[in-house]
Amino acid sequence: MEVRKVLLNEDEMPRQWYNILADIKMNPPLGPDGKPIKPEDLAPVFPMNLIEQEVSSERWIDIPEDVLNVLSIWRPAPLVRAISLEKALNTPARIYFKNEGLSPPGSHKPNTAVPQAYYNKVFGIKRLTTETGAGQWGSALSFACCQYGIECKIYMVRISFDQKPYRKSLMSVWGGNCVASPSTETKAGRDILEKDPDTPGSLGIAISEAIEEAVADESGQTRYSLGSVLNHVMLHQTIIGLEAKKQMEKIGEYPDIVIGCAGGGSNFAGIAYPYIYDKINGKEVAIYPVEPTACPTLTQAQFAYDHGDSAKYTPLLPMHSLGHTFVPAPIHAGGLRYHGMAPTVSQLAAEGLIESKAVNQVAAYDAGILMARTEGIVPAPETNHALACVVDEAKKAKEEGKEKVILFCFSGHGLIDLAAYDRYFAGELKDYVLTQDEKRRFETCLEDHPRPQMLKSC
Ligand SMILES: *Cc1c(COP(=O)(O)O)cnc(C)c1O
Repeated sequence: MEVRKVLLNEDEMPRQWYNILADIKMNPPLGPDGKPIKPEDLAPVFPMNLIEQEVSSERWIDIPEDVLNVLSIWRPAPLVRAISLEKALNTPARIYFKNEGLSPPGSHKPNTAVPQAYYNKVFGIKRLTTETGAGQWGSALSFACCQYGIECKIYMVRISFDQKPYRKSLMSVWGGNCVASPSTETKAGRDILEKDPDTPGSLGIAISEAIEEAVADESGQTRYSLGSVLNHVMLHQTIIGLEAKKQMEKIGEYPDIVIGCAGGGSNFAGIAYPYIYDKINGKEVAIYPVEPTACPTLTQAQFAYDHGDSAKYTPLLPMHSLGHTFVPAPIHAGGLRYHGMAPTVSQLAAEGLIESKAVNQVAAYDAGILMARTEGIVPAPETNHALACVVDEAKKAKEEGKEKVILFCFSGHGLIDLAAYDRYFAGELKDYVLTQDEKRRFETCLEDHPRPQMLKSC
């Protein structure tokens, strides 16, 4: 029997996260005056202990024992060799994936929700606000807040709130309070509703609402939490790649190619950053973030300074952005429908350390169905984008007759996204590409924003 799963014991779980800020140089976030913001400026939004992580340049940061205890509910996550998928593709490539779909909410997101809830709790915070698209982040944060006994309020993008009831149910199961965004509870929400009462909403709008509510609490006991994009989120997700490295070492493998789908960039960073550390230190490894053609932040948008939300409450972040006013086409991979990209992922892309790919929706589902019919597990719509790239690379390896080793992040399962699979079988899913009109709009939106610099850090 060939080895299918490589497992770690609980005592082999990594004890530290890897912080890429120790190894690359970054452009600073800018305040409304165009000057770099100071850590204290973020204090109304995040607890100070997380702000310290956000700006830290320590290479290794200890994972608190309390966090390891909760992560051990489902971690270490198995590394799986996709033997049946390899056979179906008749490829000489060996394909491995980290299965992040085994967490209670079914994705990689609790890897950061748990430490974020923990650090807020330690700082004395009683209540977190956040936004969610398809509901993965809202359910992950509800789960994490429930573990530490804090309240969780979630603004869910209207169109998903109406179309995807089950993650809303999950949030309720874990005690979260979910409302549709835009809502009448905030000024940001009311302003949008006044202009466009039937808007489907967007992540950018929902973020504005969640920040506004956190900052407005005069008791000082509410903070905001973000599920992707920020440095500390990327940091927490590196447990994925650090585990993968240990697991591959056990079987004497090292990847030629590392792949992850990229919405805000966190599961990609999680699997890739520990390998980027190797790459900076001379190893040869190709690293691909994969995004949808409907929201092609890395492959089409400019590297500019932009806001993370539509009401411009956030500082200007140095990132690839389709513009803070961008409302992406309604593809089913809700987690990939964000106008921006993590600043660290953006900087690495701009400097050529990673090579960005975009795939269309139908090709993504084709790959997802192949995965389900070979390996058995049903991937999330977001994960399907990574899979489409994996399938491409496995086919390329076959053409070239090369025994490539491919590692990808299986960011989540799709059991709550089955309606999207029904639509795929009904032939209702469409491919979307950015129109000239949309391109012009984001170029105009970013026109007078400053540009980040190439820092030749890597
Ligand atoms: C949220 C989500 C993503 C996209 O978010 P990233 O921050 O880019 O990782 C990808 N896959 C799944 C399953 C998700 O829930």
